[in-house]
Amino acid sequence: MSTKQTLSFQAEVAQLLHLVTHSLYSNQEIFLRELVSNASDACDKLRFEGLNNNALYEDAPNLEVRVSFDKAAKTLTITDNGIGMSQQEAIDHLGTIAKSGTKDFMGKLSGDQKADAQLIGQFGVGFYSGFIVADQITVESRRAGLKAEEGVRWISGGTGDFEVETITRAARGTSIILHLRDDAEEYLNAWKLKQVIAKYSDHISLPILMEKEEWKDGELINPSDENGGRQPGGMVKTGEWETINKASALWTRPKKDITEEQYAEFYKTISHDHEAPLTWAHNRVEGNTEYTQLLYIPAKAPFDLWNRDKKAGVKLYVKRVFIMDDAEALMPTYLRFVKGVIDSADLPLNVSRELLQESRDVRSIREGSTKRVLSMLEDLAKHDKHDTAAGADGVTDVVDADDKAKEGKYTAFYAEFGAVLKEGLGEDFGNRERLAKLLRFASTTSDAVTVGFADYKARMKEGQEAIYYITADTLAAAKNSPQLEVFKKKGIEVLLMTDRVDEWALNYLQDFDGTPLQSVAKGAVDLGKLQDEAEKKAAEEAAEAFKPVLAKLKEALKDKADDVRVTTRLVDSPACLVVQDDGMSTQLARLLKQAGQEAPQTKPVLEVNAEHALVKKLDGSVHFHDLAHILFDQALLAEGGLPEDPAAYVKRVNALLA
Ligand code: ADP
Repeated sequence: MSTKQTLSFQAEVAQLLHLVTHSLYSNQEIFLRELVSNASDACDKLRFEGLNNNALYEDAPNLEVRVSFDKAAKTLTITDNGIGMSQQEAIDHLGTIAKSGTKDFMGKLSGDQKADAQLIGQFGVGFYSGFIVADQITVESRRAGLKAEEGVRWISGGTGDFEVETITRAARGTSIILHLRDDAEEYLNAWKLKQVIAKYSDHISLPILMEKEEWKDGELINPSDENGGRQPGGMVKTGEWETINKASALWTRPKKDITEEQYAEFYKTISHDHEAPLTWAHNRVEGNTEYTQLLYIPAKAPFDLWNRDKKAGVKLYVKRVFIMDDAEALMPTYLRFVKGVIDSADLPLNVSRELLQESRDVRSIREGSTKRVLSMLEDLAKHDKHDTAAGADGVTDVVDADDKAKEGKYTAFYAEFGAVLKEGLGEDFGNRERLAKLLRFASTTSDAVTVGFADYKARMKEGQEAIYYITADTLAAAKNSPQLEVFKKKGIEVLLMTDRVDEWALNYLQDFDGTPLQSVAKGAVDLGKLQDEAEKKAAEEAAEAFKPVLAKLKEALKDKADDVRVTTRLVDSPACLVVQDDGMSTQLARLLKQAGQEAPQTKPVLEVNAEHALVKKLDGSVHFHDLAHILFDQALLAEGGLPEDPAAYVKRVNALLA
């Protein structure tokens, strides 16, 4: 039935459209990149489905994109002979956003146009970018394999709704007809179109065709002019089509023939990111399995980085035939931020996701690609700052321009992706040591997250036998933690870890380069050789003298504390909580609880500072019971926790204050 239907856009689409038309004006021309990229994807899909169903090619085996314009009608048309869309697909794909996380994304929009335009660039507006330049878009399409009478026309002005109707369309594939706004008429010009396509779509492996034009009675005056210096007698179409892009997949070209700009543009096309990538690696790998890898590290984290189900951004090609997007088997989860292309010479063309999981070739591609990414990061890390580039011989390395360009990049990378990288400690045992070297933290000597384990080790005190660290919710909480007091007093650096994954990740890292990692909030403090004999003796004596009070404290707090003991780790604070050596830290337990997960009910150990006035007061006090509980609850508060019974705590404090 060929009746017209009017349908409403999904609410998110309407919102997105509003944003597209209102905030992407500054970069109008990207619409062409997006539409050509969709056309190219549609051809890739046909090629893929055609592997098992040759009939889909009908009688047009050459896949291509045609760009044409009509000055009088003010239309620009992008036509592909790819897979096309059925009526239902047009309704679903152009009227809703199927991408997961769209709602989250919309929630992130601030209303500030500039900031939103940034976000939108990351999200990839795709088809809807047509509305940057068009006040109406007509899509005519027919899915490969359907009858000519089963074509669809979709029309929308880019506001609340769209119309669909059934049409007859002989050619399979899709035409996107843009009715250009007055301020976008510059795209009704072959020269302009060629220029934009060269900029954004040269690397598309498909030929992009435009109809050749000729000067009608034009006379050559100045050949160096943009229009050949001809008298404006007018251009006329010749009916002959010519390929206007290079039409060879970028990654198949030799490195030396590709400019930095081309690499960056290719990245933008495959990632939908509008910022240039931080770095990339392009290699042909030969050996047991042969493949080409072009891998990019983005400069900014996508809004849904934290979704561990998010697929890796690597596209799989087999002998230049597109096979699939987001081939998760090609990259470990902790490197899900990497974008790029892997083109294998060995995999079968009909490879499925299931098959990928089991393939030995894929395993070796993943290992090779993982190592490549780690090398890229190591290279950035090595060149991160040059002020400390003086070698052991005191001679500063010669810094060439290339190295200079890498300065500060690792710190920038780490701020965006460091926390994800840490997941690798638990996920990729084979590369754990390389990963450990890439980690950076803040510390008691550096607020900036730039301290690596190796830097730390180089600064360790004589006699220091462990790398000390503390985990907390925030940098401020970590820095002010009572557990750090003795370390500060003795000038021992402690790493401050404030990422949620730190606790979990460090479970997988017992030591770095032979030096054990030691949480300052776990187990009894043992500074080993850093504590001198006199100090040790004094501490033992204090503990001995405190024994009777300790016994009473243990009794009073037996429901809350696993143990109560005297410590030397405190200087200014009366008490702190620690966990037994094998226990889960209170911070991790709290995080698990917040996330609604079961946390084992382990009681912490209360450590008291026998030298502190408040603790001294305990002996013989009539308020012993209240003081004991206040001591415990305050230790909990100091590390960002909450007393089990806050009202009781307030009551006790008030009773003492009064
Ligand atoms: P994306 O391409 O990121 O999925 P778009 O908004 O650009 O998002 O397109 C939405 C969907 O519409 C595509 O996933 C595809 O299914 C369909 N589509 C868009 N353009 C074409 C085209 N030229 N041929 C066939 N399908 C298309």
